[in-house]
Amino acid sequence: MATYTPMIQQYLAVKAQVPDAFLFFRLGDFYEMFFEDAINASRELEITLTGREGGGEEKIPMCGVPHHAADNYMSRLIEKGYKVAICEQVEDPAEAKGVVRREIVRIVTPGTVMDSKLLGESVNNYIVSLVNQTDGYAFTACDISTGELYTTKLANSWELVVDELNVYNPSEIVTSQALLTTIRESGAAWGRNMVLTEWTRADETLLDEHFAEDAALSHLSSISRQGVASLLAYLKETQKRALTHVKHIRIYEPDQFMTMDPFTRRNLELVETVRERAKKGSLLWLLDKTVTAMGARMLRRWIEKPLMNVTRIEERLEAVNLLYNQLIVREDVKQALKEVYDLERLVARISYGNANARDMIALKHSLQQVPMLQQLCATSGSETLRKLVENMDVCDDVMSWIANAIEDEPPVSIRDGGMIREGYQPYLDQLREASKNGKQWIAELERQEREATGIKSLKIGYNKVFGYFIEVTKANMSALQEGRYERKQTLANAERYVTPELKEKEALILEAQDKMIDLEYELFTELRDRISKHISRLQKLAEVIATADVYQSLATVSAAHHFRKPEIGEGFNLEIEDGRHPVVEAVIQDGSFIANGTSLLQEQGRILLITGPNMAGKSTYMRQVAVICLMAQIGCFVPARSARIPVTDRIFTRIGAADDLIGGQSTFMVEMMDIQVMTEKATSRSLVIIDELGRGTSTGEGMAIAQAVIEFLHDRIGCKTLVSTHFHELAHLEESLAHLRNHCMAVKESGRQVTFLRKLIPGAASTSYGIYCAEIAGLPDAIIQRSYALLNGFEERAAASAVPQAAETVAVATIAPPVATPIRQLSLFEEDSPAEVAVKKKPDGKSQLVLDQLKGIDLINMTPLQALNLVYEWKQKL
Ligand code: ADP
Repeated sequence: MATYTPMIQQYLAVKAQVPDAFLFFRLGDFYEMFFEDAINASRELEITLTGREGGGEEKIPMCGVPHHAADNYMSRLIEKGYKVAICEQVEDPAEAKGVVRREIVRIVTPGTVMDSKLLGESVNNYIVSLVNQTDGYAFTACDISTGELYTTKLANSWELVVDELNVYNPSEIVTSQALLTTIRESGAAWGRNMVLTEWTRADETLLDEHFAEDAALSHLSSISRQGVASLLAYLKETQKRALTHVKHIRIYEPDQFMTMDPFTRRNLELVETVRERAKKGSLLWLLDKTVTAMGARMLRRWIEKPLMNVTRIEERLEAVNLLYNQLIVREDVKQALKEVYDLERLVARISYGNANARDMIALKHSLQQVPMLQQLCATSGSETLRKLVENMDVCDDVMSWIANAIEDEPPVSIRDGGMIREGYQPYLDQLREASKNGKQWIAELERQEREATGIKSLKIGYNKVFGYFIEVTKANMSALQEGRYERKQTLANAERYVTPELKEKEALILEAQDKMIDLEYELFTELRDRISKHISRLQKLAEVIATADVYQSLATVSAAHHFRKPEIGEGFNLEIEDGRHPVVEAVIQDGSFIANGTSLLQEQGRILLITGPNMAGKSTYMRQVAVICLMAQIGCFVPARSARIPVTDRIFTRIGAADDLIGGQSTFMVEMMDIQVMTEKATSRSLVIIDELGRGTSTGEGMAIAQAVIEFLHDRIGCKTLVSTHFHELAHLEESLAHLRNHCMAVKESGRQVTFLRKLIPGAASTSYGIYCAEIAGLPDAIIQRSYALLNGFEERAAASAVPQAAETVAVATIAPPVATPIRQLSLFEEDSPAEVAVKKKPDGKSQLVLDQLKGIDLINMTPLQALNLVYEWKQKL
C-alpha cells in the first residue's frame, strides 16, 4: 500500500469501510471506481474500463461516470441488487493541503432508495430487520421513502417470520449471519429480489433519542427495542442523516390480522398473479380505483392484512356503504383527491433536503384540497368518515407559508433563482429592482449608441463567456468612434465591443444577479427547513387522506361490480348466496359468470368434498369462497347476492400444481409440508381449501392420504373446509363423516358432447371426463378412441374384482378405483379396436414413438400430474 499515491491510499481507506458496496469516489466532475469495483461496474454498466497510474507496478483498473449523470448509473446498480456508497470531496480543493478530504456521504441500498425513479408509485419499499432471541423474533419493517415503521414480536417459529416477510416483501433484510443462512436455506427469499445484509449492531441510546417524542417507544418489548434500534442504526449508518421523517413506531400484534401463508397469498392472487407475477389480474388490480399514490399503497396494505376485529371491519364497511350509496359525495371526494400529490414521499424528500420548489407547489396544491375533503367527510353522513376528519389538522399554516413564498411555476433547479415571490423579502426585492434597472439602463444605452453612431443595426447582447457587448456588423465598423470601443470578440461578419461604462454596469448587474440567486436559495432552504419541523403533522394528514382514498376506491369498485355489503360476525356459520369470483368475473367480462352459493355450517356440513371433471370450475369456486371472506375482512363489499361472513383467523389454501417447485423439492413433498403446517396451525375459525388433495403420489397412496387428512380436519380441527378431488371414491366419506357433504360441478352430456354448467350441485360426480378433456385439447382421434376402449376394459375388470366387497365400495362412482385392480400391462395391439386399425394404417415415426411410450408406461404407479405431462409431451411430438 505504501507505494500507492496518497489519493489511492485515501481511496483504499474509504473502500475498506464499504467492502460490499460500489464506491463512487468523487474526482472533479467524475465519480471514479477502481480495482475490482471498476472491473465489475464496467461490466454491469457497460462503460469503458481504463487504467490509471497509482504508484503501484501496474496500472490500476478504473472507470468513471460523470457526476451529473451519476443518478442514472447508480439506479441501474441498485436495480440489480447492489449497494452504492457515494464518496464526496468534503473540503474546498483550493484550500486543501495535500489530498482533498473525502468522506462517504450516503450509502444507497435497495432497501434505502429515495429516488422516485426507482420506487414504484403504488408500492412501499421496505427494509426489514430481524432479531432472534430465546423468546422469539423481533420483526421490524421501515419504508424510508415514506417514513413508515412497523414492528412486531413473533413467537419462536420460523414460519411466522416467513409469513410476515411475505406481507412486506422487503427489498432488503438486515440481520445476523445465522439468520441470513436460515433465510437462504429455508427458501424464504425464493423468487424475490431481496438483498441480504449482515448487521447486528443496535444502539439503544440512539433509539431513545430518535423516538423521544413518540409515545410508542415505552411500549416496546425488550426484543422489539433491539429490533428497532438495530434497524435505526443501519439506516443512520447508511443514510448519514437525521431521518426526521421516521417519527413514529407502529407496534402491532400479528393476530390483529388474518394469517395467510405465502402459498395462500400467491394462490389467491392478492396483489399479483401466480403466472406473470403482474398486478393485472390480481385482487388488488380489481379493487384499486384509488386516485392518490398514498391511497394505492394503503389499499395494498389492507389487502395484505385483513382485519380480525369485527368492530373495526364494520367501521370500514360503514364508510364504504355510505360512499357506495352516495354517488355525488363519492365523486366529490374523488375530485378533491385528484389534486393531492404523494404527500408521504414529498414529506420524506423535504426531510432529506431533496425537495425542490416544484415539490413545494405540489404540497401547496395538495393542502388546498384538504378543507374541501374535510367538509365532505364531516357532512357525508358516515360516522366513520366523520371521525376520520374530526380532529384533523389541515396544516393551513404550511399552505400559506408556501403560497406566500413560492412562485406558482418555479423552475426545477433550486440554484438558478426564479422561485421566490415578489414581496416575500425586501432585500431580494431591492436586488431585483437593481437588476431590472440595470437592464433598462442597457436598453437605454443601446438606443443612445445607435443614435451616436448612426448604426441602426447596432445591438447590445449578453452571453455567459463575454458578458454584455455591443455588436456591430463588419460593414458598419468604420462608423465607430476611434478609441472609445474595446474589441472583445470577432464573428464571421460582426465585431463585438465593450466600453468602460458598459463594463461597470455589467459588474453591478451580475453581482445583483448572483446575490439574488444565493438569496433565493437561502430563503428556499429556510422555508424547507421550517416545514420539515412539521413533518409529523403532514404525515398524519397524509394518512387521513390515504384512508379516505381507500374507502372511495372500495366503494367505487363495489358499486361498479354490484357487490353487496356482507354481514360480519363472530359466529361459525358461513353463508353466501350467489357468490362470484370477482376477478374471474371481471376478466370474462361478458357477464357469463355463473354464481354459486356456499353454506358451511357448524352443525350441518362444514366440509364440502367437491368432485367434478377438470375445467368444471372447482378451483375457481373454492378460491371464490376464500376471496369473499378476505374481501369482507378488508372492509369491502363482496360479490354475492348476500353474505354472512364469520371472522376467519387463517385461510389456508393448497391450490395449483406447476408453480410450486422450490429449491428442487417435489410437488408432493411441498404439498405434504404445507399440510403439516396446516394441521398444526388451523383452528376451528380457519378456512381450509385444498385442490386435488393427494395428487402428487400414486393413486392408492394419494387417496389414503386424502382420506386421512379429511378425517383429521373433520374430527380434530372442525374448521370450514373445501376439498376438491379427482378421487370419486372418496364420496363414500359422506356416510361416515357427519359434517362432510358431497358436491359436484354439474355438466350436461349429450352423446359424447359435454357442457360445463359451472353450477355447484349436491352429490358426487359420476365420471371425470378426463378423456373428453384430452379430446378438446386436440389429441389425435386414435389416442382418444383407444383411451375409451381401455377405460371400458378397466371398468369391467374393476367391476368383476369388486363384486365380493360390493357393499363397501361406493355406489356413486361409476369408474371403480384402478388401484384396486392389479391390471397387467395392456398391449395396444392385443385387441382389435378402431384405434388400432387407425394407427396401424399410419405407422409414421412420430406416432410409433408415442405408441412405444404408451406401451411402456406403468399406469398404476403414475400420478395424474405425470400422466398429464406425458400427454402434453405426446401432443408436442405429434
Ligand atoms: P377446475 O378447477 O375444475 O379444473 P377451474 O376452476 O380452473 O376448473 O375453471 C376452469 C375455467 O372455467 C376457468 O378458467 C374459468 O374461466 C371458467 N369458470 C370457472 N368457474 C366459472 C363460473 N362460475 N362461471 C363461468 N366460468 C367459470
